[in-house]
Amino acid sequence: MGDCPHMHGPLRQPPGGRVVFLDRDGVLIEDTGYPDDPEALVLLPGVGEGLRRLAAAGWGLVVVTNQSGAARGYFTLERLAAVHDRLEQLVEAEGVQFNGIFFCPHHPAGSVAVLARPCACRKPEPGMLRAAARMLDLQLPRCWIVGDRDSDILAGLAAGVPGLLVGSETGVNPGARDRLEGLLDAADLICREAQGP
Ligand SMILES: [Mg+2]
Ligand SMILES: [Zn+2]
Repeated sequence: MGDCPHMHGPLRQPPGGRVVFLDRDGVLIEDTGYPDDPEALVLLPGVGEGLRRLAAAGWGLVVVTNQSGAARGYFTLERLAAVHDRLEQLVEAEGVQFNGIFFCPHHPAGSVAVLARPCACRKPEPGMLRAAARMLDLQLPRCWIVGDRDSDILAGLAAGVPGLLVGSETGVNPGARDRLEGLLDAADLICREAQGP
């Protein structure tokens, strides 16, 4: 499985070249530890409203997610696709659409031979953000990333994208602009701080 990042679903170019990059587990859905059951997916509180506010303000919405569970043999790429189909359904039921879903299934210590390797797309590396910028014609310094881990923020910093930490993960805060309860608060900060597209 050579080419990375992998993509799920259609790419939709956002007007104005500005998106909010969204980590998946711990930001959009609960991080239950390699979640892989489409039927069990539930959006976290405030996610629907947060996504609607961002979309209404003209922001594109792009998922960037490490999915090393595939390399580790915890789930297949087919199962991962079913999870992403369900995630798309859940956000469409909230009245919004993603402009892209990018994922990296790799991990250097994986057990699935074709996926067991380092990858420039695996956050904290910025490969997914850079690829999205090329494919969607984004201006990265005008984008944001919302994540629940330092690796999300570091990927943003490496690509010149300001980051917001959400959730209750503890640890260092390497350059995040702020730490907030969840995506709804992050959406409000982004809508307040950034001038519209
Ligand atoms: Mg996460
Ligand atoms: Zn990868």
